[in-house]
Amino acid sequence: MAYVISDECINCGACAGACPVSCIKPGENKMVIDKDSCIECGTCAGVCPVGAPKLENN
Ligand code: SF4
Ligand code: SF4
Repeated sequence: MAYVISDECINCGACAGACPVSCIKPGENKMVIDKDSCIECGTCAGVCPVGAPKLENN
């Protein structure tokens, strides 16, 4: 599992600066999480103003 960023992302960048493993990078229209590096800490979800990072179970 890993967190994924939904289309609700407004590209504020807060999550990227807060991620302890620096696995959030700018994508085309939103920030994108590197699934293989995400440790599911939930920090990005906690700092996001619009609740875009969500835990994906696949
Ligand atoms: Fe980074 Fe944690 Fe968010 Fe995963 S859950 S992207 S490790 S801040
Ligand atoms: Fe997008 Fe939320 Fe990250 Fe801001 S904190 S870049 S809105 S996912």
